[in-house]
Amino acid sequence: MAQVDYIINCEFVLADANSGAIKNGSIAVKDGFIFDIFDSRSASVQYEAKRLINRESCLLIPGLINSHTHAAMTLFRGLADDLPLDKWLTEHIFPRESRLTPELIETGTLLACAEMIRGGTTGFVDMYFFEDIIADVVNDVGMRAWLGEGILNFPTPAFASGYEALKETQRLADKWKGHDRINIVVAPHAPYTCSEELLRLSSEMSEKNDYLVIIHVSETRFEVEQSKRERGITPVEYLDKLGLMSDKTIAVHCVHLFDNDIEIICKNNVTVVNCPESHLKLGSGVSPVIKILNSGINVTIGTDGAASNNDLDMFSEMGSASRIQKGINHDPSLLSASQCFSMATLNAAKALKNPLIGSLKKGASADFAIIDLDKPRLRPIYDPVSHIVNVVKDCDVRDTVVNGRFLMEDFSLLTIDWEMLLNKVKNVTI
Ligand SMILES: [Zn+2]
Repeated sequence: MAQVDYIINCEFVLADANSGAIKNGSIAVKDGFIFDIFDSRSASVQYEAKRLINRESCLLIPGLINSHTHAAMTLFRGLADDLPLDKWLTEHIFPRESRLTPELIETGTLLACAEMIRGGTTGFVDMYFFEDIIADVVNDVGMRAWLGEGILNFPTPAFASGYEALKETQRLADKWKGHDRINIVVAPHAPYTCSEELLRLSSEMSEKNDYLVIIHVSETRFEVEQSKRERGITPVEYLDKLGLMSDKTIAVHCVHLFDNDIEIICKNNVTVVNCPESHLKLGSGVSPVIKILNSGINVTIGTDGAASNNDLDMFSEMGSASRIQKGINHDPSLLSASQCFSMATLNAAKALKNPLIGSLKKGASADFAIIDLDKPRLRPIYDPVSHIVNVVKDCDVRDTVVNGRFLMEDFSLLTIDWEMLLNKVKNVTI
């Protein structure tokens, strides 16, 4: 009889966005990996488990992956709302960011991790400052992350220049090389905040070392108009010229795209991150997600930072992504629940080039979330995927597991001292 670390028995196990849920499903986990997924009523499956966990009224799903955020911006949540992006950034966010310290970054990141773990998010892609500190926090907390030190043309709270931020990227990549959860990516902030040389150097670093690149692209109409005015080409065309449109690129936003931009993104296998709630809240517009998807481009979902959303709830983000496209296109058949759930799981795994996450199968990383279904809002249940996208909220998540380790069990955070963190957050001033 095979020995495993634990078995969880659930009402439903959903292995991935495309397959149906297994009723009375169980999963067996060993050494951080999925050992088996099976029907718990099957007499032929027998394992010797060190622990048996009963989640009979629950739905177990692959962990959600937030493809774009600035985790520590939780500290700026609700600080300044109802403003256009440029005003919001230059008058409210940038001045406060200049006062960020490693201690504040640690607190803000921990707060984001607490929120994400509570919401069934097992991994996230981050672009911010002091990523050295962020990597330590994420490592301690036990989440999976792809972290990029923000590279900009002007001084950040962490570095005097973009060149130093690039150097830090290399240092962090060497430091965390081969780590099973922490990944370092190259993060030039945007075509309008980086010099041509910084963008070229970022591209070279990515090419030479096979590092992923995350960059904000064509978020606002103003940005695209400015690029056309100054260079005669769109931000996407400009980045393509500099070698920054490749299969290693994760292009965030892409709200304002021309047909040629979509062709470039498609031809180069760039992934697009849709952040629908941030796009709405900042009045940036609505990304042409249907057109992008129909071109065969890989699309994922991100919440963006908590200051422009204002939460890190991937369930509501999936719901928003779906509803916005149905509404603006006057077509309820568009962006189905399974498509949206794919964007938050399988498509993210593809973008991040990690086939062991995004779905649950034998040999995959044991990254999953368990949703408590015994709530008025969640019964009856006909189609678990429909519920995940259309009705589940982050507070419904009972357990969150990464690499087989429970980061939250039975609604209790296990790797974050919540009382201590709460006390710090209540007294934070920036
Ligand atoms: Zn962003």
